[in-house]
Amino acid sequence: MRTPLIAGNWKMNKTHLEAIHFVEQLGHELADHDPKKVEVVLCPPATALRSVQTTLDDRHQNLGLGAQNMHHENEGAFTGEISPLMLKSLRVKYVILGHSERRQMFGDTNESVNAKVRAAFAHDLVPIMCCGETDLERENNHTEARIEAQVREGLAGLTEDRARRLVVAYEPVWAIGTGKTATPEDAQTTISFIRGLLTDLFADEVSSAIRILYGGSMKSGNAASLLRQSDIDGGLVGGASASLDASEFAAMIKAVTA
Ligand code: 13P
Repeated sequence: MRTPLIAGNWKMNKTHLEAIHFVEQLGHELADHDPKKVEVVLCPPATALRSVQTTLDDRHQNLGLGAQNMHHENEGAFTGEISPLMLKSLRVKYVILGHSERRQMFGDTNESVNAKVRAAFAHDLVPIMCCGETDLERENNHTEARIEAQVREGLAGLTEDRARRLVVAYEPVWAIGTGKTATPEDAQTTISFIRGLLTDLFADEVSSAIRILYGGSMKSGNAASLLRQSDIDGGLVGGASASLDASEFAAMIKAVTA
């Protein structure tokens, strides 16, 4: 049984003070939320991680903490980067890796994502590894080839023991921040293709334990129908839709737990 996971990716939004305000409001709206039914994770920018962590620890322990990126090395001369050790010391549990915005604008490759995935597991952080095709790749029927390369190369060398804790996020680039959502059936088709790749890489009981999320204009109105699909285990929710508005984000969580 895979516990559904809804992760809010705030991207480059909210100061640490705005973050605290958001968490207090969300925590209040989800005071009765049971994380065994649906795990809820907040991924603020790095500058707000500490503030969000203490607020969650103090008052809202039914919500979890994630980061949006990290470097694969523990320390060193990497100006502007954040290491797995730093995340671990903030009791961060999840880390988004290989988001399409990082691949397109900041040079992340399947190889560098693989190094980060391995480093995350080495520090007991759970990677949310992103994959997804662009509009052009979709039009040219290259969706599966693109995703296959991202998944196989991103997960190269991963042991089954680690892989069973992995989270994969399928985010079609054309659906991110555009208001265009993949239909539940289309998202299910690609996500079941991803599960097939995982079954090829790992034993059946491992691939069937891996959670695969959908991301791209998910909101309270469409989340439940996406999560009803057999292979869709949750969502990675960005700013354009729901994750930056505590009421809308809470409404989404309630819609998928109802
Ligand atoms: P939107 O929900 O804003 O489309 O963003 C999705 C996303 O990129 C989450 O990582």
